[in-house]
Amino acid sequence: MDFVITAAAPVALPVLGSSAFFPVHRIYCVGRNYADHAREMGHTGREDPFFFAKPADAALPVPTGSTVALPYPSHTADFQYEVELVVALGGGGSDVDPAAAGKLIWGYGVGIDLTRRDLQSTLKKQGRPWEISKGFERSAPVSAIRPRVPGGRIDSGRIWLAVNGERRQDGDLTAMIWGVDDIIAHLSRYFTLAPGDLIFTGTPAGVGAVKAGDRLQAGIDGVGEISLAITEAA
Ligand code: MN
Repeated sequence: MDFVITAAAPVALPVLGSSAFFPVHRIYCVGRNYADHAREMGHTGREDPFFFAKPADAALPVPTGSTVALPYPSHTADFQYEVELVVALGGGGSDVDPAAAGKLIWGYGVGIDLTRRDLQSTLKKQGRPWEISKGFERSAPVSAIRPRVPGGRIDSGRIWLAVNGERRQDGDLTAMIWGVDDIIAHLSRYFTLAPGDLIFTGTPAGVGAVKAGDRLQAGIDGVGEISLAITEAA
């Protein structure tokens, strides 16, 4: 196919134990999926999961064992981290039954949903869309994807994040309000899911801000770890 301008390169994440890459289609995110985080954001009670999206090229691949530089973004003085289990889909569909959702999972990663929190708070108050607070460049660092092994679902395990070696978030995947199968089922009512989709599944309590010079490290038992160095604005 001839293109009139140069087509963008596919967004791709490294895969553990392979020289092949996982191609990213869309990035979906779940809001307030841990009760302790919902409380720290001023909310209580169980509600249906709600979703927002980031562009595929917001993904920032963070290969295992490397620390990736991340320039502090413009237009924020409150740049916050949220460590999340990322589910990488190998299948898709609409109106997926929760009992069948597990079959769509190709693998898992560790992601950080980066947020211009000050902008997000203002936009929420104004009733305006969130994109500029959530969907900017490099706002979705993701580790290498760990392929799901038969019977090897990731539904429990410690999820943590440290800033300059100090633990800030420390939860367990079992504390998710909506589990991965229910998230996939709900999401597939509104979007036709496809191979290559990533789903950020929410963050436990302890979100907070970083500044240039900080080092972010995060991990999930059985999935992997991720390391970022926040640099001065580009
Ligand atoms: Mn989040």
